[in-house]
Amino acid sequence: MADENTLSRRKFIGAVAAVGAVGLSACATNSQPSSRLWAADRTSGKLPPRGEFVVRNAYIVTMDPKLGDIPNGDVHVRNGALVAVGTNLNAPGAEVIDGRNRIACPGFIDTHFHLWGSFARGVVADGDFDYFPVMSKLGPVMTPEDAYASARLGITEAIYSGLTTIHDWSHNIIDGRYADADLRAPTASPEVGHGSADGRHGSHAGHDHAA
Ligand SMILES: [Zn+2]
Repeated sequence: MADENTLSRRKFIGAVAAVGAVGLSACATNSQPSSRLWAADRTSGKLPPRGEFVVRNAYIVTMDPKLGDIPNGDVHVRNGALVAVGTNLNAPGAEVIDGRNRIACPGFIDTHFHLWGSFARGVVADGDFDYFPVMSKLGPVMTPEDAYASARLGITEAIYSGLTTIHDWSHNIIDGRYADADLRAPTASPEVGHGSADGRHGSHAGHDHAA
């Protein structure tokens, strides 16, 4: 028997992505038509206007010990900032996003992401196909455009997994074009504000890359 409260994985990810918009410029959702998306101003580097919306009647996981979970609550956001979290919020003029049968929670932060290697997700495995043997072969033959495409893929994956902040460990910079490609990818994604921190460390000793 179908249970109204049972979320499919697809719905859950969709819900997380919807609330991920809190930390981003604007995230496309079923109830947020693409016409409401704005491109970032690449010349000034300023974030686009992020509008005002209220997610209504969602299961709110606030992660705030005082507020706890709110089984049937609202989240009101204006220009990227939380205005209020609670029940039956008064938000005249705000775009309404239907949160029924969805979970609303803060965007996730991934402190260790390799955008340049996103294309290899599913390629890396155990043994001889471990992260370092594989990536040390693939990295040197990548072009700057490969790096750019891989970064776009990684950013898209991040958004649809509910990530709103990532630290990009960018360590396949063969020359300046690779750095430019890595930096170009977030600003080319209209739903992303360019606030990412690039890590260009040399050592990965001890890191576990399950990809
Ligand atoms: Zn790493």
